[in-house]
Amino acid sequence: MSSIFSKIVKGEIPSYKVAETEDFFAFLDINPLAQGHTLVIPKKEVDYVFDLDEETYTGLWTFAKKVGKAVESVVPCKRIGITVIGLEVPHTHIHIIPINSIYDMDFKRDKLKFSAQEFHSVANKISKAYNKL
Ligand code: AMP
Repeated sequence: MSSIFSKIVKGEIPSYKVAETEDFFAFLDINPLAQGHTLVIPKKEVDYVFDLDEETYTGLWTFAKKVGKAVESVVPCKRIGITVIGLEVPHTHIHIIPINSIYDMDFKRDKLKFSAQEFHSVANKISKAYNKL
């Protein structure tokens, strides 16, 4: 059965898309820790990041760097925090989170709420920034 993220890649489930290449996809986390909290995934469905083949693994981090730079150019922050957890969705994903303190990476915190319009607006801004890099 396809993961929820594979369904997002195929357009079967909606997402706030930020960027896409032939092999990778980036979209806003629906329960964000910060505005612009983005998930970066390989289209290839592999649960655990360290089980990715070498080419997909290195390509994913290269893609994440570009997406991260786009996010930080749009959302004011000290830097981008990156983490891989994957206990909820069994499809490798890198969290890209604009942070100002270590507290901003605390997944036990209440998640932020944004309207669909706010999600769309920030996704569009990040997407435009990504396309200029
Ligand atoms: P984890 O697997 O622990 O890294 O957490 C999965 C992350 O995916 C969480 O931050 C969720 O908010 C996020 N998530 C789950 N479903 C969706 C979805 N349909 N669209 C965007 N983000 C999602």
